[in-house]
Amino acid sequence: MISQNIDTVKRNIETVVKNCNRQAGSVKLIAVSKRFSADAILKAQQAGQELFGENYLQEAIKKYEFLGGKVKFHFIGHLQSNKAKNASRIFSMIETVSSRKLAKSLNKHLLEFEKQLDILVQVNIGKDEKKSGVYPEHTEELLRDINNLSNIRIRGLMTITPYSSNPEDSRVYFKNMFLLSEEMKSKQLFYDNNKVELSMGMSNDYHIAIEEGATSVRVGTAIFGERPPK
Ligand SMILES: *Cc1c(COP(=O)(O)O)cnc(C)c1O
Repeated sequence: MISQNIDTVKRNIETVVKNCNRQAGSVKLIAVSKRFSADAILKAQQAGQELFGENYLQEAIKKYEFLGGKVKFHFIGHLQSNKAKNASRIFSMIETVSSRKLAKSLNKHLLEFEKQLDILVQVNIGKDEKKSGVYPEHTEELLRDINNLSNIRIRGLMTITPYSSNPEDSRVYFKNMFLLSEEMKSKQLFYDNNKVELSMGMSNDYHIAIEEGATSVRVGTAIFGERPPK
């Protein structure tokens, strides 16, 4: 089941990539495993999936330890500054940094671990009160602040668009995220301005996110099925 779903999603990604004349392999798949077992992650790994997304720190730590640290996790949930220590230890990327306070706290622990951490800055592109993220007009200032921290590498931007049952409703937000990332790139605000990451799109709208320039998509339900309740 999981392995078939991964094949299907990967094939869909490559079809969209090809149809919009982007380079083959230029969009990464993040399998969002929140609320699914470590066993489900193992099955996905056996099917060739390398990158996973987790939303809850305690849950991610348990899975990380169960899997012997042999899994690449991106953190995609809300992170409080007082949880920065463990988060900076187990994740290969934190996609949801949207405050100077959190970035400073992460940097403090990274200095102790003598580690560099890749992050994305989360943008609240739809100015949705129910979502976290920095507002687009404050993004430049936040990027400049975080760039002063020695052990954090800003790889790009991430967003969660306002919920809608019609995936086409997300398109304008994806477009605006791409424009914002281009503007920040022109001001050289990323760690590698020749390779800026843009994480956007989920199970129901990842095809549209890719058309609008996503470099990674975060897909849960289409791989693992309906999530078990909390
Ligand atoms: C849960 C989640 C996803 C995956 O959502 P699906 O609709 O199951 O694909 C992606 N991104 C974030 C931030 C999430 O919390």
